[in-house]
Amino acid sequence: MTQQIQIPPSLLPSDGRFGSGPSRVRSESLVALTASNPGYLGTSHRQAPVRNVVAAVRAGLSELFSLPDGYEIVLGNGGSTAFWDAACFGLILKRSQHTVFGEFSSKFADAARSAPWLDDPEILEAPTGQAAYPKPSADVDTYALIQNETSTGVAVEISRPDSDGLVVVDATSGAGGMRVNASDFDVYYFAPQKCFASDGGLWLAACSPRALDRIGAIDGTRYIPTSLDLAVALDNSTKNQTYNTPALATLLMLRNTVDWMLTNGGLEFAASRCEESSEILYKWAESATYASPYVTDPAQRSPVVVTIDFSDEVNASTLAGVLRKNGIVDVDSYRKLARNQLRIGVYPAVEPADVRALVACIEFVVQSMGGK
Ligand SMILES: *Cc1c(COP(=O)(O)O)cnc(C)c1O
Repeated sequence: MTQQIQIPPSLLPSDGRFGSGPSRVRSESLVALTASNPGYLGTSHRQAPVRNVVAAVRAGLSELFSLPDGYEIVLGNGGSTAFWDAACFGLILKRSQHTVFGEFSSKFADAARSAPWLDDPEILEAPTGQAAYPKPSADVDTYALIQNETSTGVAVEISRPDSDGLVVVDATSGAGGMRVNASDFDVYYFAPQKCFASDGGLWLAACSPRALDRIGAIDGTRYIPTSLDLAVALDNSTKNQTYNTPALATLLMLRNTVDWMLTNGGLEFAASRCEESSEILYKWAESATYASPYVTDPAQRSPVVVTIDFSDEVNASTLAGVLRKNGIVDVDSYRKLARNQLRIGVYPAVEPADVRALVACIEFVVQSMGGK
């Protein structure tokens, strides 16, 4: 019976979490969290112990992304989804252009389309499994790009269109696992539960001086709910605070991951590690008779979220179910994509050796299921 397939313990990875978000949390972060007690958790976010952690997060991220002088790391509550609404209120002047090639990029476009104070956005859409790229456009003031479409495993290199518009990049699952040049964006926003191996609920945004000017220029010209007001978030962030109470555990684990990345070589270390892990999977899928990378153009294949299609002889959702029973979790395909597929998160916290073990486990289960 498929249900009872047991993977030999010697094949199993040291950690079975391969989710695309929330993703594997490093044990070291939890040790740091325990060590911080008492003194940190359960204390005021307006006092030094917490503000020092926020300061370390902001400084660490500035170093990780090699931000030039004048850039600020701004943060607030609500995750990247809340940031889309904040951007509709406080970054887009009148009209945005969106590259759309999956669920997350389409959600930001929807948010802009439904904001009554904005003109209808320009949408440049590619079929799922492929990437869309921005085009300079005279009546657009904001370009909404996405670095890594987590729903499909399609990634792009961020580059600035030849235009004065602000470049606002959804890097929720790319930041910390992919290279980026600060000169190519005005806003690079993300959340801590993907490459940064922490928990959800916060958004963070690296903002250029031009983006900070835009926030200031819009402030006061339209109604903005205070909890989504980027000028308020900026004011609090520069004091190493948030407008309302943040999750302190999330901040501490985020800091721990950022420190770990910096100690080991920074963004280059993290990005190389993700490349190594994802290559293991893509190479395997290309050689397997019953699997293939979903994204056909190798240049658009994500180094952090790997999508692998299976041929009809292997039912991917049964495969994911057997893996789950054996402690390997969250490799199911993105629910709305509805493909015979596995989607595997290989963020920096994932050990490449565990990815090799995962491949061995997949092969074992497929054989046991009666596949090849
Ligand atoms: C996960 C994700 C989001 C949503 O992030 P939340 O913090 O859950 O709001 C947005 N965009 C991308 C690309 C994502 O991967």
